[in-house]
Amino acid sequence: MKRVRVRFAPSPTGMLHIGNARTALYNKLFALKHDGAFILRIEDTDVARLDLGAERAIMEDLRWLGLDWDEGPEVGGRYGPYLQSERGNIYQEYAQRLLEKGKVYPCYCTPEELEQMRKMLLAKGERPRYLGRCRELSPTMARELEREGRRPSLRFKVPEGTTVVEDIIHGAKTFENSLIGDFVIMRSDGRPAYNFAAVVDDALMEITHVIRGEDHLPNTPRQLLLYQALGFAPPHFAHHPMLLGPDGTRLSKRHGATSVQAYREEGFLPQAMANYLVLLGGGSSGGGEVMSWEEMIERFSLEEIARSPAIFDLGKLRWLNRVHIHKMEPEDLLQHARPFLQDFPLEGVKEGWLAQVMDVIKENITTLAEVGLYLPIFLPGKIPKDEKAKAALAENGALKVIKTMEEVVRDLPEVDEKNLPFIFSKLQARTALKGKSLFFPIRAALTGKMEGPELRNILPLLGKEVILERLKEVLGGS
Ligand code: GLU
Repeated sequence: MKRVRVRFAPSPTGMLHIGNARTALYNKLFALKHDGAFILRIEDTDVARLDLGAERAIMEDLRWLGLDWDEGPEVGGRYGPYLQSERGNIYQEYAQRLLEKGKVYPCYCTPEELEQMRKMLLAKGERPRYLGRCRELSPTMARELEREGRRPSLRFKVPEGTTVVEDIIHGAKTFENSLIGDFVIMRSDGRPAYNFAAVVDDALMEITHVIRGEDHLPNTPRQLLLYQALGFAPPHFAHHPMLLGPDGTRLSKRHGATSVQAYREEGFLPQAMANYLVLLGGGSSGGGEVMSWEEMIERFSLEEIARSPAIFDLGKLRWLNRVHIHKMEPEDLLQHARPFLQDFPLEGVKEGWLAQVMDVIKENITTLAEVGLYLPIFLPGKIPKDEKAKAALAENGALKVIKTMEEVVRDLPEVDEKNLPFIFSKLQARTALKGKSLFFPIRAALTGKMEGPELRNILPLLGKEVILERLKEVLGGS
């Protein structure tokens, strides 16, 4: 069998949408599973809609998600260039071949004329399509139109008959050619149309499997006709169902954040995001819902992708993020949390200690952005107390607990994991209190809030000095 080659071919018109990220992920997993190549191709010929920053942003998001490419922009490869805007002469050459073979013809219709035809067909209740007005244009007539200043586009002569798309996910789909209408392959300004550029590139880049969203299924019969006309063998096709919002409409801004960047900025882990996207709507068989990269690759199969649309469920993504945060090694977690720590005074703070802090905080957070809720507890200095903490410190006996804690800690060389049992038993004995009456005031004094990481995890990381300072602050009434 030929070596698997798949591609992700975004048009850089905006941020990477999570629906497109899912397409990219499926391609990447398929490549990894079959020891193939994952190619990134930028489809940037639609100049009017181009967003210059988008190409960079898409690449950054792909890399963040772990979807780095084997060939493509910034990486190179034997099949380049990988930007369609740099492949103009290639499209010209293949368009010329089709012209010579009589498979395409120049079309001089103006946008206004095309719009009129469209309206006429719609009024008759027919599918709008090009009816072949310029198919039989005589050379004299063509010259006449050129003299008027018209520049032709090139249209493909759709043959009669039917075209069958054999889709890995949907099975065989038959399309009536007469409903397609002769379509443009080169625009009048010399730029290629999507279907043509995609076919030329997929063929020349020796793509074996085209895995993309179902919204492209209507393009596939056109593309198959082009493969035939150009004399190329077509790849295999797999069109996955679209990603929908909870209300069943295409996932869009109305449903909340839709770009990968937004989720990254909210503190989602790439692992959780990838895990969620592959879980969504099938794509993996057997095993549990939480997957490592290795498991995702192992269990991935195109045949397992559901034919019904995938419904985006933020709650599930949040749950997976929590699980992946919990599973993460402290050093890794610190690396991922870095962008969320920029506003904290961390100069001179030791990496190892900070990683331990992350390890303690991780039990209480769902997104990395929430690290900021608990990090101040561990940093030196005064700690503001919320209403619940103030109330806990106003309870009967609370100050006695704080006073006793201060006495016990003062006499110790340091507060560490080993002497915690000693500290607590001394406190219990001297105050005759236990449970909440004992722990709540201490928690309130040391952390300023009643929820958060466990006290026994916090104390050794705070250390004797900071603990004493915070206890004294409460006792001093300051
Ligand atoms: N540029 C197209 C898109 O972003 C690519 C479609 C395809 O994969 O062929 O939708």
